[in-house]
Amino acid sequence: MRVLGIETSCDETGVAVYDTDRGLLAHALYSQIALHAEYGGVVPELASRDHVRKLLPLVRQTLAEAGLAASDLDGVAYTAGPGLVGALMVGAAAGRALAWALEVPAVGVHHMEGHLLAPLLEDPSLRPPFVALLVSGGHTQLVEVDGIGAYRLLGETLDDAAGEAFDKTAKLMGLPYPGGPQLAALAETGRPGAFTFSRPMTDRPGLDFSFSGLKTQVLLAWQQSDRSEQTRADIARGFEDAVVETLAIKCRRALEQTGIHTLVVAGGVGANLRLRAMLQAMAEKRGGRVRFPRPAFCTDNGAMIAFAGALRLMAGQHEDAGVHVTPRWDMAALPEVASDRA
Ligand code: ATP
Ligand code: MG
Ligand code: FE
Repeated sequence: MRVLGIETSCDETGVAVYDTDRGLLAHALYSQIALHAEYGGVVPELASRDHVRKLLPLVRQTLAEAGLAASDLDGVAYTAGPGLVGALMVGAAAGRALAWALEVPAVGVHHMEGHLLAPLLEDPSLRPPFVALLVSGGHTQLVEVDGIGAYRLLGETLDDAAGEAFDKTAKLMGLPYPGGPQLAALAETGRPGAFTFSRPMTDRPGLDFSFSGLKTQVLLAWQQSDRSEQTRADIARGFEDAVVETLAIKCRRALEQTGIHTLVVAGGVGANLRLRAMLQAMAEKRGGRVRFPRPAFCTDNGAMIAFAGALRLMAGQHEDAGVHVTPRWDMAALPEVASDRA
């Protein structure tokens, strides 16, 4: 089955074609970063309008790269939530209309399920049960995955998401939007231990997170410092180490608590090299394994939506002819897919 995947939940237009026999055939991404940079954050209405401009050309480009005509598609998957309502509507309306014209089924995909299943797209031998660490711009969650669609929330952030903490911390030290990746790059030249910040909520039991206090600690350290380039890098390193170690401590705890040996990591912060290295070391030490998508499939992309949609379409799920999106959507509410993968 060949499935077109469409992602428009925020500020990235992503399109891909996934073939359930041959794997990923093509994928393309258009990022709106330059459009939103002067405002220091995503402007929802501008995002919607830019998705309108870019989506269909990107669909044509992706089909051409896959060597397919639209009529070769057997299904369409689009992100139906969570996300910005206007941005979601663009992908949902286009995806639904395309499926209707082609007389193939369409399915609305949960964006976080897309992120969560991205490691399986990369490694088809991966099977539940596993523990997933979802670390993105809007979410920080530990999820026990017992099957496709069988998700049990083990813990989540009580305030800022990990990616949001990276972005806000970068901003308060004057780095341009979007700051997360830039802060991580700056941390490479920072000296470990020059600044030490707390590992929030690791001193008590439980799997929840809290990152907003770290931001305040960084702000104070930055304001009281000489504000030199080296200091900025040192603080970035201290902040990154605090976030990464906190995430690793909670991942280890989640594996111990569930007795599961496989950890998968997904979402934009999963692209962070220090996080990847630390979780790799932790998993090896415990005799388990950790899997990440390639960095480009950690952040938003169409491939994860095509893949998650293909699993659900193969299981017979599809939408009616209406265009529906769900800007706020709990992943635990998803139906379980009874498939031989699970
Ligand atoms: P959500 O998926 O929760 O709706 P989102 O789609 O905006 O949020 P993603 O696209 O998955 O989030 O990830 C973007 C986030 O990842 C940003 O907050 C960004 O700062 C962060 N990020 C990307 N690369 C890195 C990196 N190398 N180190 C740390 N953070 C990173
Ligand atoms: Mg994004
Ligand atoms: Fe995302």
